[in-house]
Amino acid sequence: MTAPTAIRRLNAADPDFAHHLDHLLSWESVSDDSVNQRVLDIIKAVRERGDAALVEFTQKFDGLEVASMADLILPRERLELALTRITVAQREALEKAAARVRSYHEKQKQDSWSYTEADGTVLGQKVTPLDRAGLYVPGGKASYPSSVLMNAIPAKVAGVTEVVMVVPTPRGEINELVLAAACIAGVDRVFTIGGAQAVAALAYGTESVPQVDKVVGPGNIYVATAKRHVFGQVGIDMIAGPSEILVVCDGQTDPDWIAMDLFSQAEHDEDAQAILVSPDAEFLDKVAASIDKLLPTMDRATIIETSINGRGALIHVKDMAQAIEVANRIAPEHLELSVADPQAWLPQIRHAGAIFMGRHTSEALGDYCAGPNHVLPTSGTARFSSPLGVYDFQKRSSIIFCSEAGASELGKTASVLARGESLSAHARSAEYRIKDEDFLKGQGELNMSKFWSPFVKDLVPYVPGEQPKLTKLVKLNTNENPYGPSPKALAAMQTELNDNLRLYPDPNSDLLKTAVAQYYGVQSNQVFLGNGSDEVLAHIFHGLLQHDKPLLFPDISYSFYPVYCGLYGIEFDAVPLDAQFQIDPADYAKPNGGIIFPNPNAPTGCLLALDAVEQILKASPDSVVVVDEAYIDFGGETAISLVDRYPNLLVTQTLSKSRSLAGLRVGFAVGHPDLIEALERIKNSFNSYPLDRLAIVGAAAAFEDREHFGKTCRLVIESREWVIAQLQAKGFEVLPSAANFIFARHPQHDAAGLAAKLREQGVIVRHFKQERIAQFLRISIGTPEQNQALIDGLGDL
Ligand code: PMP
Repeated sequence: MTAPTAIRRLNAADPDFAHHLDHLLSWESVSDDSVNQRVLDIIKAVRERGDAALVEFTQKFDGLEVASMADLILPRERLELALTRITVAQREALEKAAARVRSYHEKQKQDSWSYTEADGTVLGQKVTPLDRAGLYVPGGKASYPSSVLMNAIPAKVAGVTEVVMVVPTPRGEINELVLAAACIAGVDRVFTIGGAQAVAALAYGTESVPQVDKVVGPGNIYVATAKRHVFGQVGIDMIAGPSEILVVCDGQTDPDWIAMDLFSQAEHDEDAQAILVSPDAEFLDKVAASIDKLLPTMDRATIIETSINGRGALIHVKDMAQAIEVANRIAPEHLELSVADPQAWLPQIRHAGAIFMGRHTSEALGDYCAGPNHVLPTSGTARFSSPLGVYDFQKRSSIIFCSEAGASELGKTASVLARGESLSAHARSAEYRIKDEDFLKGQGELNMSKFWSPFVKDLVPYVPGEQPKLTKLVKLNTNENPYGPSPKALAAMQTELNDNLRLYPDPNSDLLKTAVAQYYGVQSNQVFLGNGSDEVLAHIFHGLLQHDKPLLFPDISYSFYPVYCGLYGIEFDAVPLDAQFQIDPADYAKPNGGIIFPNPNAPTGCLLALDAVEQILKASPDSVVVVDEAYIDFGGETAISLVDRYPNLLVTQTLSKSRSLAGLRVGFAVGHPDLIEALERIKNSFNSYPLDRLAIVGAAAAFEDREHFGKTCRLVIESREWVIAQLQAKGFEVLPSAANFIFARHPQHDAAGLAAKLREQGVIVRHFKQERIAQFLRISIGTPEQNQALIDGLGDL
């Protein structure tokens, strides 16, 4: 009897355990420089001289007397002959194992798939087998027929067109079992070559050996080194390290079984690793005793002893949970869960090549015939890789089949990203397929955005309502007056169309200032004029509303307000309207850097009574309160009467609506002279002549023509009441309006749908996508005929 084996004992409770474990597992697959150089020389020779080099190396390394490459080719008939030369039992065992391996691997076949998106774009994945695979089979002592099955069958199941096997026959030794296995597995061609030269021949091809797409199979250090070097030229399966087993046992399995399971790994070679982990210290002793007892009975006792003593270990752990922890740390090639209820522990196993479940599943069954592959990730690589399988012999191609609409839509994303990466050919290639002209225009600008001042990119500009080119449309979308301007205003402008247009206009527009001041009974220095009230508002935001505290305005109001805030960097707080879409003055009684709201509000049309406006003024005496009265003449009372009492009040108005001059662009503000002074400073730092000669005389005349103004306002108000009654009769909910538009929703009909339907009938109204009001339509009041067209266009709802 030999001396007791000196298998290493580790205890997980030992403070140095982690260090010991690392040391135990460390294994370097380094090829030394001389091996490396020899392999590189061999590869070079095979690439340069093909078959001639193969013949030479085979004579030299395998001790074979061969005259030519023809002597190194085994025809298919030779494989069939091998089948007759093995025993019936061997043939049956090979066939049974092959059948099981085949049916297991059938399950791994991946199918191509695809799906179709709503716009007809098809995306998918096409699975294709490799054209040709090369299988390396070692000769001599490590020549395993089971490896032939495990490597060749998945390739065949995957649909690989040709499987080429190389197997060295040192001194002419042919392993009939290996050839028989090749025959059963369906190997197409066999060359009796080996070593680095065989790998090189498969990777680069020679006159006789066909070039393959992937080289698989185990081999010695020369084969492994050659595989490393040809990787990239061809695919390889892995660089396998020595084989390992980790047995986790609860202490209830027969210790002889466990000892033999450890041996089954150790007998592969001296570097193989066999480790047992158990929470039962006594059991570890029993297994050690079994090892001592059984070792002398083994054929390969010397190899086993070297392996067990050099790289084996018995590890004592606190409990099963810790055993699993150790197993995951090791990430073994083979993991045997020799426990009562392996299923219970399975979910916690994260890293293992193959998991052998329960006391009866010895690794040997998996090695030969259970069905799963025995080519497994070694040396902890189970952390990131998997057993050899059908998927190693298949590759995937992505399928992208864009419909015209899909290419147009997806192209936008591609274009934006490509421009971001400055890859303009990518961007333009995508852009050729885009049909959205607006997008393309924007992309062109973006391209030039390096010339922009930095803040410009972040601006979110105001979107004006559509001004269609088609004159036939009934235009109820931008709150213009349906009636023309005062004939007196038109006449004044006609007169002004003379040679004087060569001269700049009056920078102070005194004529108009006086007209406005007289109309409202204020002083001229209380009036500020601008190119539309939008410009007046812009100067107000810039000059009066930029303070430390946030500006307040209703969440639903003129959508230009947040745009000005963005332009001038003003912090704001959008104050929600109440449930009836009304402004509640109490909501504005909080610290603020200014307040602005339209009155009547836009787009709701709801009016805030003057006493409520005063309430807001009183609560914020230290802020400017701007009342934007763009629509006040259609039913409200102007707050201009309050400016003398409230120095913080600024009222803005426009000639665009009630005076039918949207095309002339004239707006104004009325307030304390010191507020006006701020606006004049801004104006004179921006554009000294915002109002042209025509605008000044036309607007002044419009103010003088009270009769035309009064009549047209009355007509609009009357029509508004008619439109409201008609809409209500159709089931619409209409908010109370003091403006030249109404804001309405239908409980059963989607607003966007209604707007689209009206457009088909030639009537355009405004729809905002903003959250709270997405179900409303804003409809400007038109002439009686236009209003009738609106009602007719809605039809029966
Ligand atoms: N304020 C409000 C609330 C508006 O709806 C509008 C019109 N879009 C304006 C101001 C600006 O009108 P304008 O620039 O034509 O004077």
